[in-house]
Amino acid sequence: MRQVAIYGKGGIGKSTTTQNLTAGLAEMGKQIMVVGCDPKADSTRLLLGGLAQKTVLDTLREEGEDIELENILRSGYGNIRCVESGGPEPGVGCAGRGIITSISMLESLGAYEDELDYVFYDVLGDVVCGGFAMPIREGKAQEIYIVASGELMALYAANNISKGIRKYAQTGGTRLGGIICNSRKVDGENELLEAFAKELGSQLIYFVPRDNLVQRAEINKKTVIDFAPGENQANEYRGLANAIDKNDMFIIPEPMVQERLEELMMEHGILEM
Ligand code: ADP
Ligand code: MG
Repeated sequence: MRQVAIYGKGGIGKSTTTQNLTAGLAEMGKQIMVVGCDPKADSTRLLLGGLAQKTVLDTLREEGEDIELENILRSGYGNIRCVESGGPEPGVGCAGRGIITSISMLESLGAYEDELDYVFYDVLGDVVCGGFAMPIREGKAQEIYIVASGELMALYAANNISKGIRKYAQTGGTRLGGIICNSRKVDGENELLEAFAKELGSQLIYFVPRDNLVQRAEINKKTVIDFAPGENQANEYRGLANAIDKNDMFIIPEPMVQERLEELMMEHGILEM
């Protein structure tokens, strides 16, 4: 069973990418569980055809500790098992707690079945702190992919996340598997992301183009693979699924200083006017 965590700046496309990529893996016959680790609880909406999932924290709050696996786990597209950790009431407690509670709940209820090929954690956060570092810190996820784009803030966040991975990788087994570019159509984006990934000692594992079809599928509460299986964007997500499935490059990242990050942007990202 490969346990994979997807990190990246808020709004960069973690949930969209994770759901489309797992839909692609499901098409290949893989058995998958997706664990949403964002208090927004929208990590499985496209797989379930809506926000059909009551979060682990809400379930515990409303029904007490004595719950069954089917109270918190629903089967979605391609038999993907979907879980949403949820979060505390806004302003109360650490949002990361939900992840810790959820994972231990899933463990004690036997959700990590042997037949699973993949578990994906879709994790909120620019900075790998507190509860959000949990999948890495406790060695739950051995493989991390960072979603980024050619925008400075996205790369800044990706570099910070790499610092977090490095910190825990030295004692645990967690490795960076690559950078996923979710394109914002920035000039020279592909080259910039390739250079950025290389600088970390990693790879640009896939370049996902920006396409309005993603929004159309989203309004219809579906992944692109489900909504428009014959379109090019669906094939792009299949390409990403395939690249991750056959990935064999796992490293401890070497984060860069801010000046070097800005230098890379000057060298590759921004073309002369
Ligand atoms: P995150 O989970 O990182 O906060 P989301 O997956 O919710 O981000 O994505 C934010 C928005 O970006 C969504 O509304 C989604 O439709 C859009 N989006 C993500 N990826 C793409 C893409 N490749 N092309 C077009 N829109 C995208
Ligand atoms: Mg999300």
